[in-house]
Amino acid sequence: MHEQFDVIIVGGGMVGAALSAALGQEGMRVALVEAGQAPAPVDDNHLDLRVSSLNLASQQLLESVGAWSLIPPARRCPFRHILAWDIHGHGETRFSAESIDLEDFGSFVENRVIRHALWTRLTDMPTVECLCETAPIAQLSGHDRVMLELDNGRLLAGSLLVGAEGASSGVRERAGIRLDVTDYQQRALIINVETTLPQQDISWQRFTPEGPQAMLPLPGHHASLVWYGDPDQTAAREALDDEALKDAVEREFPSRLGGIERVLGRASFPIRRQHARQYTASRTVLVGDAAHVVHPLAGQGLNLGLQDVIALHERLRTARANGKDLGGLATIGRYALERRPQTLAMMAATETFHRVFTGGEGLRSAGSAALALAERLPQAKQWMMRRALGI
Ligand SMILES: Cc1cc2nc3c(=O)[nH]c(=O)nc-3n(C[C@H](O)[C@H](O)[C@H](O)COP(=O)(O)OP(=O)(O)OC[C@H]3O[C@@H](n4cnc5c(N)ncnc54)[C@H](O)[C@@H]3O)c2cc1C
Repeated sequence: MHEQFDVIIVGGGMVGAALSAALGQEGMRVALVEAGQAPAPVDDNHLDLRVSSLNLASQQLLESVGAWSLIPPARRCPFRHILAWDIHGHGETRFSAESIDLEDFGSFVENRVIRHALWTRLTDMPTVECLCETAPIAQLSGHDRVMLELDNGRLLAGSLLVGAEGASSGVRERAGIRLDVTDYQQRALIINVETTLPQQDISWQRFTPEGPQAMLPLPGHHASLVWYGDPDQTAAREALDDEALKDAVEREFPSRLGGIERVLGRASFPIRRQHARQYTASRTVLVGDAAHVVHPLAGQGLNLGLQDVIALHERLRTARANGKDLGGLATIGRYALERRPQTLAMMAATETFHRVFTGGEGLRSAGSAALALAERLPQAKQWMMRRALGI
């Protein structure tokens, strides 16, 4: 016997949970299938290693589903300036929110905190059912519905199935959607540190031939450092004890970071680009990292995923208001048409930054010249800022 829903969402990460909340708020019957546990309450004394820069469009989405106010102000770090330059000190360019009449560009928030706020909202939504610690084993798309069988024996039916389980999406694989993958042969070492100076309202990135070094501000005297390097180099750094890692950062990172009091934690992640060849199949849609993984140097992966949510929510809301099929081609085809070009544009931009600043000397000089030129072209800078903010 199957249970009937409007939309079945597989994957309760930040993107799947945000989509569930947006649809639940419309009164749609949603099944959210999550392989892990529901997120645990946020620990006051522990900073998550995974941090995201939420742009204004993402913040507005979280506000509209009632999750933003559940993020404690002490766990949000708004930023007003972005600084980028290359290792030789050339081509420094600064982006300031006030130059486009904004108070800030967005906020850095720990991923765990964002996810917990979204899941807290879901518990208030009577039409959303969260099914945790279970995963799909089969899916079948038919003329008027899609069926999903779970490994706990439950059978779900819906008008639409959404794959939101991140880069290794099983929904995508079972739907037969192929994937283009580029491995950058790079890893990002994330290091949370307590700093001597308060790291506030600015985020910076310095380009080096081995990859960027970035500082993402966290509340108070805390920062999340991102250190890109080749896999061996990164493994060696990751294996250092706290004191040796602190010394390495103080030696290798730009002096504007100031002194480091303590290393609070570290972890590394492989860097690759992935793009699904289609975002849709019969009664099936992909969102977030299931559809696209971009180089994190521009901090846009989650923002792209949340823009998928905004677009899909709008398509489904309109279809429902007009009595149309939620999983019909007319509904989901328009979602794909809207989102693919946006993702491709962001992929092209991050790819260019990566290639230029890790390429040969000639390319790197051209990159520095481009940063210097951007500094002298305020209108071009304003255009870039608005694109990155999703406004
Ligand atoms: C180093 C680094 C830094 C980054 N910094 C930024 C940043 O500053 N700003 C930004 O916008 N983006 C950033 N990103 C990208 C961002 O982290 C991702 O785009 C985002 O987490 C994707 O969210 P998601 O919900 O699509 O997928 P995920 O976060 O991968 O969530 C997937 C969920 O699905 C569940 N799941 C998996 N398999 C199954 C299954 N079979 N059945 C059911 N559930 C399943 C998982 O348990 C998980 O809860 C960064 C990425 C990296 C690697």
